[in-house]
Amino acid sequence: MSKIIVIGANHAGTATINTILDNYSGNEVIVFDANSNISFLGCGMALWIGRQISGPEGLFYSNKELLEEKGARIYMETPVYDIDFSNKMVYAKGKDGTEYKESYDKLILATGSLPIVPKIEGGDLKNIQLVKLYQNAQDVIEKLKDDTIKDIVVVGAGYIGVELAEAFARCNKNVTIIDMADTCLANYYDKEFTQLMEEQLKSHKVSLECNQSVQRFEGTDRVERVITNKGEYKADMVILAIGFSPNSKIANGSLELFRNGAFLVDKCQQTSIPDVYAIGDCATVYDNTIDAVNYIALATNAVRSGIIAAHNVCGTKLETVGVQGSNAISIWGLNLISTGLTLQKALANGYEAEVTDHEALQKPAFIEKNNSVKIRIVYDKKTRVILGAQLASDYDVSMAIHMFSLAIEEKVTIDKLKLLDIFFLPHFNQPYNYITMAALKAK
Ligand SMILES: Cc1cc2nc3c(=O)[nH]c(=O)nc-3n(C[C@H](O)[C@H](O)[C@H](O)COP(=O)(O)OP(=O)(O)OC[C@H]3O[C@@H](n4cnc5c(N)ncnc54)[C@H](O)[C@@H]3O)c2cc1C
Repeated sequence: MSKIIVIGANHAGTATINTILDNYSGNEVIVFDANSNISFLGCGMALWIGRQISGPEGLFYSNKELLEEKGARIYMETPVYDIDFSNKMVYAKGKDGTEYKESYDKLILATGSLPIVPKIEGGDLKNIQLVKLYQNAQDVIEKLKDDTIKDIVVVGAGYIGVELAEAFARCNKNVTIIDMADTCLANYYDKEFTQLMEEQLKSHKVSLECNQSVQRFEGTDRVERVITNKGEYKADMVILAIGFSPNSKIANGSLELFRNGAFLVDKCQQTSIPDVYAIGDCATVYDNTIDAVNYIALATNAVRSGIIAAHNVCGTKLETVGVQGSNAISIWGLNLISTGLTLQKALANGYEAEVTDHEALQKPAFIEKNNSVKIRIVYDKKTRVILGAQLASDYDVSMAIHMFSLAIEEKVTIDKLKLLDIFFLPHFNQPYNYITMAALKAK
C-alpha cells in the first residue's frame, strides 16, 4: 500500500493512473494537473481545424470524473510548483489560491513537453500561435472565423506542421510552410519518400519553402509578414511548429537529465532518485535503433511508459522493450509510415547502412480498385540486421510497419524476411508481395 502522487494527467499520466487503479488495490493515488482537461488527443487537432471531424468532443478519452470513480483524488488547474525530494513532499497551488502540501511514498512525473518558442524579433505580435493544447486549437479555430486571415505561414515542416498546413488549406487559406531543412518530414523519411509529400503539398497549392530560417516577424499589432534569410512571406497568422522540449523544470536540478533536459530514466522509468519515476514526453526512452537512451516525444511512448511505471511503483518489476519511433502521416490521402532509422540517419549514426527498395501494386493487376505501394527497408550491411522501414501508398498499408517495428526490436536480419510466410489473397495483396520482393532484392 503506497501513497502515490502523479504530476500531470495527460496521456502518460492517465495511462499510469488507470494501470495503478485497474490492477492494484489499496493504494492512495493523488493527481495534480495544471490544465483544465485530461487526455486531449493533439493528433486530432489538424482534423478539427480542417473540419474533417465535426467537433472536438471525441478528442478526449478520459476526464476527472472517470478517474475519480476509480478511486483517484484529482486536482485540476493545480500546478505543482515545488518538490522536496529529500523529504518526499509535493507543493501545489489551486486556481483559487488553495495551497496543497502532500507527502508521497512514490512520485510519478508526467509533466510532458512544451512547444519550443524561438526567440525571434516580433514574436509577441498577435496571431503567432502555438499548437499543443486543446485551448490552442480553440484559439486558432476562433481566429479563423475572421475572414481577413487569408495567408498562413507554418514554421516547421515536421508532421505537425504538415498536418496543420493541410488543415488550413482545407479552410481555403493560402498556406506556406517554412523549414531550415531541405525538405519536409526530414526526420522520418528519406528523400525518395519526402518527394512524394512535396508533390502532394504542391498539388494542393501549399507552398513549401525549405533551406531557410525565420529572421523576424513584422506587423503593427498583429503579424503581417515573416522574414527569412531568403525571402519575405505575407502572413495573417503564423503557426510555430518547430518541436517540443521536455517540461522538466519542476525538478529544479535535483534529477539527472538527458542532453535536451528530459528526465533520464532507466528501463523501469525510474529517475536518478529511487521512488521517483518519469514517464511520457518529460522523460527519455530506450531507442532500439541506436541501442541507447534517446528522446522521442509521442503519445504512444507516453502511454507505454505510463503502464511500465505503474507496475514498477506497485511492486511488479517491468522493463520497457524499447521503442523504434514508429510514426505515420496521412495528407490528402497520401499515407507515409515509418519505423526505425532512415538511410540518412543510419549513416549519421555510424552504421554501414544499405537499402532495398521496391514499388508495386498492392493487389494483383486484375483487381480494378488498386493502389501502388512503395517500400524501403534499411539494414546494416555487416550484420544484415533491419534498422528501419518506410512505406508510402494511397492504400492503408500502415499495419505492415508494426512487423518492421518488431523486427528492429528483435534484431531480425533482412535475410529472415526473404522467405517469411506472408499469406496471399487478391483482396489484400499479391503472391509476390512488396515485402517479400524488397527483401529478396537485398544484395
Ligand atoms: C498537434 C499535435 C499532434 C500530435 N500527434 C501525435 C500523433 O499523431 N501520434 C502520437 O503518438 N503523438 C502525437 N503527438 C504527441 C503527443 O501529443 C505527446 O507525445 C503526448 O501528449 C505526450 O503526453 P504526456 O502525457 O507525456 O505529456 P503532455 O501531453 O505534455 O501532458 C503533460 C501534462 O502535465 C501537466 N503539467 C505540466 N507541468 C505540471 C505541473 N508543474 N503541475 C501539474 N501539472 C503539470 C500539463 O498540464 C499536462 O496536462 C502530437 C502532439 C501535438 C501537439
